[in-house]
Amino acid sequence: MLIDTHINIHGEAFEEDLEDVLQRAREAGVSPMIAICCRLSEFDAVLQIAEAHDDVMCTIGAHPHHAKDRPDITADELVEIAQHPKVIAIGETGLDFHYNYSPRADQFPSLRAHIEAARRTDLPIILHCRDADEEMADLLEEEMGKGAFRPLLHCYTGGQALARRAAKLGAYFSASGIISFKKADDVRAVFRDVVPDDRVIIETDCPYLAPVPHRGRRNEPSYLPHVAEALARVKGWTIEQTAERTTRAARTLFDQLPDA
Ligand SMILES: [Zn+2]
Repeated sequence: MLIDTHINIHGEAFEEDLEDVLQRAREAGVSPMIAICCRLSEFDAVLQIAEAHDDVMCTIGAHPHHAKDRPDITADELVEIAQHPKVIAIGETGLDFHYNYSPRADQFPSLRAHIEAARRTDLPIILHCRDADEEMADLLEEEMGKGAFRPLLHCYTGGQALARRAAKLGAYFSASGIISFKKADDVRAVFRDVVPDDRVIIETDCPYLAPVPHRGRRNEPSYLPHVAEALARVKGWTIEQTAERTTRAARTLFDQLPDA
């Protein structure tokens, strides 16, 4: 079995056929799955899907794009929501200086509140980072100095330096369909040369980033085996080794996942 550690399924993209999509995933050997919350206002919708399916768990967080909705979010609020048994991670949170949909001045306090919540709950924290490698590495090192927490750099597309510094802090890394894209040699090099073999996991990040050969179409969890195959080629592993290692790492990081 493969674990899809990052699905965005509460939105319009899956409104018509959510049950079919989840069933196709199970038939493709993909289960359980983690439904990501990207804005606080959508948590109820995400939770509702998780509550309706034994093999779907969820998270609580605000994506850096949406940090501006609630820049004053506190760790207390996040910790309280995270008490729900279906919530198994904090995030998605992070820094995105590529789009800057939220001002940087809002992204930092939001990210720090999420880190504090992750530290207090001992839940893993799902981090998004785009064009902010150095700021992210500096902040993670500083925050780790205040007390341990368990970071995941999801859909990793950053550079070697951030990967090295985050790996030193015990971070996990997830590969998405990008690792199968023709032009992604730099991303593949990071997974091959820097990402520790026992701290790599996989995700679809659906409905975005469909892996080859589905590139350009709506992505869904049943396409996750294509991400696993691409990672296997990068790491020089068999498909069986890739499934076993990424599943073990995902279960170590997300330690409240249900059985498949
Ligand atoms: Zn992201």
